[in-house]
Amino acid sequence: MNSDLRSTILNTIDSAAGELIDLAKRIHAKPEVAFQEVQASEWLTESLERHRFQVQRGVADLPTAFRAEVAGNGGGPVVAFLAEYDALPEIGHACGHNLICTAALGAGIGLASAMKHLSGKALVLGTPAEEGGGGKVIMLEKGAFRGVDVAMMFHPAGYTLTTRPSLTSNRLKMKFLGKAAHAAAAPDEGINALDAMIQTFVSIGLLRQQLRPDARVHGIITYGGAAPNIIPDRSEAIFSIRAVDRPYADEVLKKVIACAEAGAGATGAKLEVETKRGYEAIKPNTPLADAFARNLEELNWPVDQAPARTKMGSTDMGDVSQAMPAIHPYLAIGRDIPGHSIEFREAALSQQGFKAMLTAAKAMALTALDVLTSPVFLEEVRGDFKAQAPKRTPEVRRFS
Ligand SMILES: [Zn+2]
Ligand SMILES: [Zn+2]
Repeated sequence: MNSDLRSTILNTIDSAAGELIDLAKRIHAKPEVAFQEVQASEWLTESLERHRFQVQRGVADLPTAFRAEVAGNGGGPVVAFLAEYDALPEIGHACGHNLICTAALGAGIGLASAMKHLSGKALVLGTPAEEGGGGKVIMLEKGAFRGVDVAMMFHPAGYTLTTRPSLTSNRLKMKFLGKAAHAAAAPDEGINALDAMIQTFVSIGLLRQQLRPDARVHGIITYGGAAPNIIPDRSEAIFSIRAVDRPYADEVLKKVIACAEAGAGATGAKLEVETKRGYEAIKPNTPLADAFARNLEELNWPVDQAPARTKMGSTDMGDVSQAMPAIHPYLAIGRDIPGHSIEFREAALSQQGFKAMLTAAKAMALTALDVLTSPVFLEEVRGDFKAQAPKRTPEVRRFS
């Protein structure tokens, strides 16, 4: 029976390919940033309804989040395919989320076609604002993932890997307050808030030598003054501070704040900082990732060797993976293309990109079928999850 269901799923996704590619193109052409993905959310939910999903919009008080469900013929495991559809500011779909959401939709449509022969549920969850805002973190906190046994999504990349670690992150906002004065006539009467910021950036630059290789500190100045003839009385910056583990990410955060305190001390400006926990690191699930790899191979999609040095970012899927068994595999939409680049944006609209999206949809649906049809496999997946200690730290810390 399983092989019949596998063919049903694969044939259904093949029949929907035209629709999925068309939608991936339309979302790519209309990039919407975090929490503003109104059009993408509407197109995806319309399509899910057409494919007989029961759709709930605006879940977790997020207008662009959604939950779509097709129930089988009795109680059983609940598998969720996660759809991201936010774009980056200015550069558009340079992270290829137009392919993530259409792969989730395709997997959902494929699995739904077999659900009348299965017990359990197939879900597609629309998760906004991965690139900043953390839709999944909010959805987790508000119970939108309640009852989900296994969550999966795919991410486009310059390689194919079924498992890859991610970094845990902290967010830091800093503000220096100084005193305005005429920059030529009375500079000695001012306190230069921009100088304090520049000192901070220089100190962080020097700090890097004493950081572990996995640490990442990167920031931008969001305000640096009003005019060159006024000593800036205010400067502001946002930083992201990451590492492979939470304790070290927190330690680096403290060191960066110390650099800012030094900038304040040197210039006389007053420092205000606000910190927020970013995303958690991915907790891998080996049985699920292996099943996904097996299904990919059956679809004739080769998996690359893991590189000696992994390039890592952070994702709110990390938080999901700390709460339930989950996978976040990568499929190549090109070779050696960096994320968040113009080349990546073009690859997200290429034939190779669409092929990866359809293959990811199929491999996810088949992996979900493994979960729904094999209690032994589900137990293995749960056992692997339980064997690793949770790393999630839910509190948001603030320093003043
Ligand atoms: Zn991204
Ligand atoms: Zn992304």
